[in-house]
Amino acid sequence: PETTVLASTEFPFEQHIEGLSNVSYCWSPNGNFALLRLPDFWRCSLYYDPSLTFEQAIEPDHIQLQLNEIFDNPDPYEIIDSRPYQVHQRIVDDFRVGRVLLVGDAAHVCSPSGGMGLNGGIHDAFNLVENLVGIWQGADLALLDRYTRQRRPVVQSAILQQADQNRQRMTQKDPEARASSLQRMREIASTPELAREYLLKSSMIYGLRRAATIA
Ligand SMILES: Cc1cc2nc3c(=O)[nH]c(=O)nc-3n(C[C@H](O)[C@H](O)[C@H](O)COP(=O)(O)OP(=O)(O)OC[C@H]3O[C@@H](n4cnc5c(N)ncnc54)[C@H](O)[C@@H]3O)c2cc1C
Repeated sequence: PETTVLASTEFPFEQHIEGLSNVSYCWSPNGNFALLRLPDFWRCSLYYDPSLTFEQAIEPDHIQLQLNEIFDNPDPYEIIDSRPYQVHQRIVDDFRVGRVLLVGDAAHVCSPSGGMGLNGGIHDAFNLVENLVGIWQGADLALLDRYTRQRRPVVQSAILQQADQNRQRMTQKDPEARASSLQRMREIASTPELAREYLLKSSMIYGLRRAATIA
């Protein structure tokens, strides 16, 4: 799996970078980074040059260098925490093992790009509860297998594949490919039918509808 350096700082990026949103996935000329705003600090996910080892990348001086590429701070950044983050992409074969049901990250993990992990886990929980209600009302325990039948293909296609596409777009370095990707997003945003289609997919509503069609 791919590893990034997660560095947290109380530095108020929002006061220095115009238009910065609370969840920002950004391209830089030679790489990319993400800035995620938490209540008291910013968590910076720093992709580093693959010619470096992780130990070199997490050196305080290197973190300062990468943060200064994001915003050239005249003072050293105060780093309150730094650690590795590994991007995984995995799914279990069966969300049910006897009387044990797997939900959320226990069943599937993906890149955080696109923010689908937690949301996918909530969709799992809703689906599972609907099946549990059926059992409570007297249905056979085999009804629990419907949970895997409905959720697994949706997680596979609508979450894992989508998160991986987002991750690949994030790590794209070729300027032409970046430009065409942005151009495509502009087209989608300015065409109501395409925008609607895109939102149904990214909000994972399509996945819910698809699951509901599986017996
Ligand atoms: C940097 C980052 C950014 C993310 N951004 C987003 C986002 O924007 N949107 C989104 O939807 N998702 C996002 N995610 C993914 C999201 O955080 C996870 O998908 C979600 O937290 C999974 O929830 P979960 O309850 O399945 O598992 P977890 O949150 O891992 O919860 C499992 C809990 O079980 C506890 N536990 C483990 N073992 C035991 C034990 N033996 N006994 C008792 N307790 C135990 C753990 O301590 C933990 O509290 C992000 C993840 C990361 C790392």
